[in-house]
Amino acid sequence: MNNICPVCGSERNEVLYEVSCDDSARHFIVNRKCERFSQLRTHLENLWGANSCCVLRCGDCGFSYANPYIGGDKKFYDLAYQRNTDAYPTWKFEFQETFNFLSSLCLERLEDFPVLEVGAGDGAFIRKLTEIVPSNFIWATEFSDYGAQQIRKLGVQVSQVDFREQEEWDNKFAAICLFQVLEHLDDIPKTFEAINRITRENAYLFIAVPNNKRIDFNESNGALLDMPPNHIGRYTENSFKVIAQKFGWTIEDYKIEPASLKSFLDEFALYKYLRNTQTDNSLDYLIESSRLLRKLFKNSRVAHLKKLYRAKIAMHYQEALGSSQWIALHKKSHE
Ligand SMILES: [Zn+2]
Repeated sequence: MNNICPVCGSERNEVLYEVSCDDSARHFIVNRKCERFSQLRTHLENLWGANSCCVLRCGDCGFSYANPYIGGDKKFYDLAYQRNTDAYPTWKFEFQETFNFLSSLCLERLEDFPVLEVGAGDGAFIRKLTEIVPSNFIWATEFSDYGAQQIRKLGVQVSQVDFREQEEWDNKFAAICLFQVLEHLDDIPKTFEAINRITRENAYLFIAVPNNKRIDFNESNGALLDMPPNHIGRYTENSFKVIAQKFGWTIEDYKIEPASLKSFLDEFALYKYLRNTQTDNSLDYLIESSRLLRKLFKNSRVAHLKKLYRAKIAMHYQEALGSSQWIALHKKSHE
């Protein structure tokens, strides 16, 4: 296996953990007896070309990555997730930061300021963005039919394609938004070469990915793993510095989402419960596998876990902070 860091090329790394195809399938589907579970497990063997996948941490830039570094394909997502139209986010930290940043740019410029949002969900950010950028200057990509349909209602052009393969967008965009997208994608050079090709000089790039410190906390305290091949790259502020330098961008701003004790505890207790369900015949596995038991006991189990971890989280949540990290980049001009 090739274990060179996909961000900085370093060969120095430590193994955070190794997951088998079975471990990964259990993360996405609780019920091991269903047909979909064994289909997913078999699909992971084919995708990885192996029975397991390692997660490594680079000893130089701090980026953590799945090895093999292969993102989930359409078949993986079809098997791993059942479509749920309520799953789209409403308003988020990274939307607000990006909206503030764009609002602070001179308004006249936004009249000729084509913006692309990659993986735009059901258009929660774009709906607000139309207050400052006319809808005929906004483009989106979104794979889901439901999401694409919702965005089209806003008068925005939607392509149901991989933005890296869209050929008619050369030098088009003044800004690109990638919210919770990058952590799913393999081939970092292909991604940033495409971004460079489809942006103008002096363009802005807004990226939000999960907060690595929050994931580290969850994983080291027995909550859900950041499981490949859904998430295959865990970015750090330092790994963004390397990427910016390599692909010709400067960092304009970087922020980590603040956290409240309540939201941290709510998420942690749920993720801890879900991780417990991955162990055969555990109490939480039995509860989660039956609709009736789930209805009766899930909430009280999660409440119990909150009580158990409250003191520890109260002590550490200000170091780990919120779910998301956000970065604003500016494309260097060629003169
Ligand atoms: Zn590295």
